[in-house]
Amino acid sequence: MGDDVPPDHPRHDSLVTRERVVDGVERGITSRAGLVAQGRGEAFDYLLGEQTVESAARAERAAAALLLRADHPVVSVNGNVAALVPEAVGGLARAAGADVEVNLFHRTEARVERIAAHLRANGVEEVKGLTAEARIPGLDHERAKVDADGIAAADVVLVPLEDGDRAAALAATGTEEIVVDLNPLSRSARAATVPVVDNVVRAVPAMAAHARALADRPPADLDDIVARFDADAARADAERAIRSGEL
Ligand code: ATP
Repeated sequence: MGDDVPPDHPRHDSLVTRERVVDGVERGITSRAGLVAQGRGEAFDYLLGEQTVESAARAERAAAALLLRADHPVVSVNGNVAALVPEAVGGLARAAGADVEVNLFHRTEARVERIAAHLRANGVEEVKGLTAEARIPGLDHERAKVDADGIAAADVVLVPLEDGDRAAALAATGTEEIVVDLNPLSRSARAATVPVVDNVVRAVPAMAAHARALADRPPADLDDIVARFDADAARADAERAIRSGEL
């Protein structure tokens, strides 16, 4: 996987990431629609210089603080995230004291089981999302399924690469969302308390590192980090970087 991409290739990281998503599809972890989402993300990432811009780095720190301050934080995992960052999801969940829940747009029980097994093989001890007996109000039956003691009971949810309808429906329940999405204009990014305009392959490890670094800070410090984060300014900064190409 990724072995055929020469290390000095200018698109090395992007091509390795793409191969991981293709591998996820071949293993029945990622849906074919996940390939389209990845391609869309690649275009935005290219324009961002395939790097974490300053405003995204601040968002990642604020996201870690918000997760640490939550009573019941959950990291939501779809097929792309499972293929791209399974170990980092576990690292972030441990550092932030968060649950991990498989939550799929194109849900099939077989795919949920395969993703759960893949996460466990990559060090995630407990995986939720298999029972999915609760529903997010305002969505059709299949797309609304969540665990009653997972996302349905969460006060903060990290939803990397979420569909706009579902992000808006979850936000409408009063749940705070951290959204990782390379498109700063997406409805998901606009529904988020903390939008992180960065590639999940960089964002999730960065949030885990911030969560470890902030773990011993007093609650007031964490609240201050969250309060000083300006979601509109962060999205506007990412949009400016993408449109201007001035990196
Ligand atoms: P919305 O409804 O929120 O406007 P959408 O439903 O059109 O968005 P999708 O087609 O589901 O969005 O695409 C998923 C989103 O995830 C895209 O905005 C894409 O830029 C983003 N994305 C894809 N791959 C990555 C990645 N590796 N890291 C971060 N974001 C990504």
